[in-house]
Amino acid sequence: MSQNSLTRTISVDGVTLTLFLVRKRVKNVYARLQNTTLSVSAPFNMAQGELDPIIANLARTLVRRERQGCLNAQGDALALAGQVATRFRTPPPVASVLFVTTQQKRWASYSTRTRTIRLHAALREMPRWVLQAVIAHELAHVVHPDHSPAFWSLARAVCPEIDRAEAFLAGVSWLGGRWEQLPPVERALLTGVSNDESGNGGDPLGKDG
Ligand SMILES: [Zn+2]
Repeated sequence: MSQNSLTRTISVDGVTLTLFLVRKRVKNVYARLQNTTLSVSAPFNMAQGELDPIIANLARTLVRRERQGCLNAQGDALALAGQVATRFRTPPPVASVLFVTTQQKRWASYSTRTRTIRLHAALREMPRWVLQAVIAHELAHVVHPDHSPAFWSLARAVCPEIDRAEAFLAGVSWLGGRWEQLPPVERALLTGVSNDESGNGGDPLGKDG
């Protein structure tokens, strides 16, 4: 039976998984993720070259779903959004805050219909003042849907650190888009650069009292 099964290591979104592939009398490819073990069953007659990208896609979906589940379990962001909302003259209602792993192109969005803020999952790991600024940005769009001067003056009034946060995110986007192309030496140099955001100085609330 050993020719019908295969074990190897694959990497998805930086997560290393042990793949157990079993050929079975099935019509489709099925995958199940438990911790870092990906069990896949595939039809006997499907070529490995055809199967590999299907497995990569299924693995990515399952890894992101699991990551999203653990992020959404944390209600801290909702409390933070509630605090930011009270800085508006008419606080925009926020019913839920979700960290999503499917939103690739934008840092955040807010739905007035569902009163839900969706945040890029990477924001979860960023400094709190950046997260506050992103929430303030989205909630300011409830008043001004565009990026007009009126929008920015409201956004700066409710979040004085917003320009710094926008610049922070622009830097993250810039690096994120180029990381794979950067030569290893430059990457190593960048990971060695110290940042001063870990102290209290990074939090605008800490400064303003
Ligand atoms: Zn905007």
